[in-house]
Amino acid sequence: MNVARTVLPAEALRAIGDLAAAEILLVASDFDGTMAQIVPVPADARPEPESVAALRDLAAQPHTDTAVISGRALDVLRELTGLYGTTNLVGSHGLEFESGLESTLSATDTERLAHINRAADLVANAHHGVEVERKPVSTAIHYRHATDSNIAAILTDIEAGPASIEGVHVTEGKKVVEVAAVHTGKGAALDQLRDRLGATVVVFLGDDVTDEDAFARLRGRDVGVKVGPGPTCATLRIADTAAVAQFLTALADARRVR
Ligand SMILES: [Mg+2]
Repeated sequence: MNVARTVLPAEALRAIGDLAAAEILLVASDFDGTMAQIVPVPADARPEPESVAALRDLAAQPHTDTAVISGRALDVLRELTGLYGTTNLVGSHGLEFESGLESTLSATDTERLAHINRAADLVANAHHGVEVERKPVSTAIHYRHATDSNIAAILTDIEAGPASIEGVHVTEGKKVVEVAAVHTGKGAALDQLRDRLGATVVVFLGDDVTDEDAFARLRGRDVGVKVGPGPTCATLRIADTAAVAQFLTALADARRVR
């Protein structure tokens, strides 16, 4: 909200001008902390309406594709974004594509996921404020509601439990540890979309450590936009979800009149 009060840095405005001129443009964004403010209950997250409108606008423009790549399960992402059908939605850090390109779990992977879920439940049962979110190929262990004094013990138990299972891939986010039965990564998802859509230039926006995997794959005239504080390999930084809304809206406007 308060989009009008956010001022984009000059280098962001320059990047928007360059992106708008791309031959085939892919505009990809993370969801939580980028399109939607982080809220105490993940199910309550709602995207900035201007960001959703800008992605719809961009998706309707010629030679322009859009994507939302999130750690959320794909069905949740569909519901929360309302962008089903216009934007390429990719869930579970790149493992759930809408278009049938998603990985299917082998019997070994399925057993590993069941093992992860059992171990995650043990952590949740041992500590207050820990919630287990089961997803098709991974399990997210949220500790947003844990007291600060318990966090070290929770992380130790996650490390000794679900994260120690052979063959798992662990990603730490904001007050969440994601334990996947197979390798996950937003970077691979972004590469897959780039190839499939034939994009000549890609812009990716994200706020969390899991987004660095995607920033690291950017090249040439691509643009990475880090949202908020923290170390990053993205070339641009903007403040918050309101700035994202302004960035996407300005990009949609610039692309339309190019
Ligand atoms: Mg995020």
